[in-house]
Amino acid sequence: MARVTLDRVHKVYPNGFEAVRPTSFQIEDGEFLVLVGPSGCGKSTLLRMIAGLEDITGGTLTIDGREVNSVGPADRDIAMVFQNYALYPHMTVRRNIAYGLANRGTPRDRIAAKVEEAARMLNLTDHLDRKPAQLSGGQRQRVAMGRAIVRDPALFLFDEPLSNLDAKLRNQMRIEIKALQRRLGVTSIYVTHDQVEAMTMADRIIVLNGGVIEQIGTPAEIYHSPASTFVASFMGAPPMNLIEAAFETGAVRLPDGTAVMDAPGGRSGPITLGIRPEDVRLGRGSATFDVALVEELGAHRLLHGKLSGQPFTAHALKESDATTGSHRIDLPFEALALFDRETGMRL
Ligand code: ATP
Repeated sequence: MARVTLDRVHKVYPNGFEAVRPTSFQIEDGEFLVLVGPSGCGKSTLLRMIAGLEDITGGTLTIDGREVNSVGPADRDIAMVFQNYALYPHMTVRRNIAYGLANRGTPRDRIAAKVEEAARMLNLTDHLDRKPAQLSGGQRQRVAMGRAIVRDPALFLFDEPLSNLDAKLRNQMRIEIKALQRRLGVTSIYVTHDQVEAMTMADRIIVLNGGVIEQIGTPAEIYHSPASTFVASFMGAPPMNLIEAAFETGAVRLPDGTAVMDAPGGRSGPITLGIRPEDVRLGRGSATFDVALVEELGAHRLLHGKLSGQPFTAHALKESDATTGSHRIDLPFEALALFDRETGMRL
């Protein structure tokens, strides 16, 4: 296991593009950390710097107390699992899993035992003599996992490992990977653009945007207390409702004048008001929600429409609430998030 520390780690590509601004955080022993953010936010660059596949422009990267800025990937005691699996097509599953160990001069009987053990853990025992082309996508991903496991690394790095799988398999594999990581207790850093993977797999999440950390926190903190409108709209499906509102005459008011909460300490000026769709109370309250569309999801329904002229979504738990037209709604004070309209940061 390993603790990983980044102290003002910075990346400027040779063409002058600053992909990661000076960034500091620490990953604890045995922790499962997920780096999440939209395409181009710098998450792969950050992971590749930790892996040693990309030079670090500035700052210090430490793995278990050892500065590794100029240590090559092979000497960092890490194993990486990629999106494209990086399997050798001409080799059997057995040889693919054993590959990293054979390269290191591990004795043959030890390799055989480790491969058998990993195959058992990953349900691959019956497929050890097949070639990658004879496997399903999920099985190939497990072979890539096997290759990482047998090396007993101090650190697992995952770069969007499930992106090539269909939705059902992705759900299954994310549970398998998480369970395996729990069992092995290996510190892991996992890159994804999928907020569901981030929420369900992480001990802690880092949300990146434009090469900058927007927020670090547990899935619950990120979901319930987003630090910015960016985090609020990136995490959660459907995302948090973000409504233009204002501090006005002692209250937070919607553009149509409806007061949704008392304003703290005589403030004035525009703000953005956030509320999760599941926190909206239907059937009472002072605001009017004009529902244009009902989306049936089985366990509940989503109502889509407008609140004070702005796009708005709410959960309807009762079927009787699931109608188009005008609904009275209450926005409970404790579920509201207020953001600075200009900076997008939480007030
Ligand atoms: P994706 O999910 O699309 O892979 P990402 O968040 O992983 O995105 P990175 O691959 O880390 O993003 O890239 C971050 C930014 O750096 C992007 O704007 C990308 O265009 C830029 N970039 C990546 N590699 C280089 C390079 N070799 N030279 C210059 N710019 C680069």
